[in-house]
Amino acid sequence: MKTKLIIFLFLILLCQYSFSWGFYAHGKINYYAVFLLPPEMMVLYKPNISFLEEHATDPDKRRYAVPDEGPRHFIDIDHYGKFPYPDLPRKWKAAVEKYSEDSLKAHGIVPWHVQAMLNRLTIAFSKKDFTAIMKNSAEIAHYISDAHVPLHTSSNHNGQLTNQKGIHGFWESRVPELLAEKQFDFLIGKADYLKDPGDFIWKRILESATAADSVLTIERELTQQFPQDKKYAFEDRNGKIVKQYSSAYTIAYNNKLDDMVERRMRQSIYAVACFWYTAWVNAGQPDLKELAHQHFSNDELISIDSLNQQWKEGSRMLGREE
Ligand SMILES: [Zn+2]
Repeated sequence: MKTKLIIFLFLILLCQYSFSWGFYAHGKINYYAVFLLPPEMMVLYKPNISFLEEHATDPDKRRYAVPDEGPRHFIDIDHYGKFPYPDLPRKWKAAVEKYSEDSLKAHGIVPWHVQAMLNRLTIAFSKKDFTAIMKNSAEIAHYISDAHVPLHTSSNHNGQLTNQKGIHGFWESRVPELLAEKQFDFLIGKADYLKDPGDFIWKRILESATAADSVLTIERELTQQFPQDKKYAFEDRNGKIVKQYSSAYTIAYNNKLDDMVERRMRQSIYAVACFWYTAWVNAGQPDLKELAHQHFSNDELISIDSLNQQWKEGSRMLGREE
């Protein structure tokens, strides 16, 4: 009976970890990205930094309400042959012609969706539409950050094919939640203009794809070296005691990964700021000062919050779970 209860609790724990980068890291990435912006943008982004942080995870929440949402968060690039996957056209139209839209969606479309979001954000800037700028900024950041997570580019996305279930949340939630505050360094220069945003995001995808192997192999090796009864422990998570990968095991994994999680988080922050900046430049660098003190209307806040409500009511995630 006791074993059954422990297994049950453990399954709950694994479900809690089923979000890209984890809610914690997504929020931090959006927050720190603001500080890389030029003063002309900072004037709008700084007063709205809490919105950007809190809504960093809206796209994950939407996965419970919108069937089309899931594929925007990943790409199983190993489905397309061997690195660097020359058979897969990088341009959306050519890829659709070759594989069909349905088939592309079945294996994830994150690199293309980031580019679609860049267009939306650019239009929002051109129209000086406060709400659209904020919403699209928070959300493009989410997809860019997901593209930096190695297991978001692998069909073995939760170690389910190699008996490592739970590794997805281990890498992107447990490690940053335990270590980011204490030892990660988020001082990063400034945003750059991206001449070829498509090429930029594809490079990041290929880096993730290369790293996915290490994420899995290193965890397998560590499991063999580490005392089995010390791998998991009942420890605090957001004020609750839950069974999870122990602190000692998490620290050992982070060391063996040679700080990969911190590096990918830093690169996410930089990339997010660059995309925001690029959209603004491409829209003709509109003056944002006059938007700086604008607020969301009540109706807008209600519609933004309805996503949260649906998510809290706890329906099932549509499409593939992580
Ligand atoms: Zn996601």
